[in-house]
Amino acid sequence: MKIGVPKEIKNNESRVGMTPSGVFELTKKNHTVYVQKNAGFGSGFFDDDYRDVGAIVLDTIEEVYASCDMIVKVKEPIAEEYPLIKSHHVVFTYFHFASSEPLTKAMMKSGAVCIAYETVECKDGSLPLLTPMSEVAGRMAIQQGAKYLEKPIKGRGVLLGGVPGVPPGKVLVLGAGTVGIQAAKMAAGLGAHVTIMDINMKQLRYVNDVMPSHVVTEFSSEFNIRNRIKDHDLIIGGVLVKGAKAPKLITRDMLKEMRPGTVLVDVAVDQGGCIETTKPTTHEDPTYVIDDVVHYCVANMPGAVPYTSTLALTNVTLPYVLRLANEGWESACEQDESLAKGLNVVNGKIVYEEIAEAFNWSV
Ligand code: NAD
Repeated sequence: MKIGVPKEIKNNESRVGMTPSGVFELTKKNHTVYVQKNAGFGSGFFDDDYRDVGAIVLDTIEEVYASCDMIVKVKEPIAEEYPLIKSHHVVFTYFHFASSEPLTKAMMKSGAVCIAYETVECKDGSLPLLTPMSEVAGRMAIQQGAKYLEKPIKGRGVLLGGVPGVPPGKVLVLGAGTVGIQAAKMAAGLGAHVTIMDINMKQLRYVNDVMPSHVVTEFSSEFNIRNRIKDHDLIIGGVLVKGAKAPKLITRDMLKEMRPGTVLVDVAVDQGGCIETTKPTTHEDPTYVIDDVVHYCVANMPGAVPYTSTLALTNVTLPYVLRLANEGWESACEQDESLAKGLNVVNGKIVYEEIAEAFNWSV
């Protein structure tokens, strides 16, 4: 198969859909891979790295789309890319169709087969192509939170790990899923005192079993949250209720209960946030302050660490890319139920019910 890897053109997106290691695996199987010039530059991969493993590097995005049958990328196509996508293409990327009617209509009009990373789903309900980004965001939440606790950027002036003779900072993590566990692990590694809350006792039991003793689990309830926020320095929002907006676990009135300079990192911002005062921010201007409480609410946290994020993403997408390339999309989806769940738009039709529902269309 002929596979194309275009350079991402969405604002501030430095990740790339395939690493040289992925190209190596594909060319080994006699597939041809076209990579756009400088596509991997933002993630630390150079054109010669791709050429060395057999890729053909093309100058323009138009040439890449025109040369291939399958496109592998990271972000949903933006308006400039719509006309490049034709009916013979299979496009494998994050789409998030439900949040964009123009994108959905454009992909239906193209007649292409659109397989969305975010809906590829394993039998146990897990989303294998979303997990690595939650892992990145969870770990980054502590790195960012620790930074914004510094006084010159309006934080409390607390060093999370403390020093001999001075107790460590306190971190409250809401949600003990992928984001929450990674955040708790990082905070614990720095020596902070960590409280992690969830409503799922199975998750709390797991955390309790695997974390060191300075990570304390507590059932998530309004009463318990109100109690903890008074003396915790850094609060991480990592809750998710599948298919719904995040519950507002921290309400506006609670900010007054916190100490000035407390830092909130609401990772769940992409689902509306679990803090009432959350509004999405960007890497250029990541924080704002309300009632002396610093809010960090960047909706694409992994975008700041494209090297790590690209490797983490392509580790999990490559097996599916290989399957699609070796067998063709129809046979690959017939044989792999998880991959079949990724089918969102096929030959002009929406085939994923929730997307049609989002626009009140029938499937
Ligand atoms: P997950 O499903 O693994 O974990 C979510 C956890 O929240 C679950 O354990 C669930 O039981 C818990 N939960 C639900 N209601 C709760 C409540 N009332 N109190 C406490 N816990 C509750 O999800 P995840 O992969 O960890 O993702 C968490 C959020 O982070 C999602 O909204 C995801 O989209 C978002 N995310 C954001 C970024 C970013 O860049 N901002 C990156 C990756 C993921």
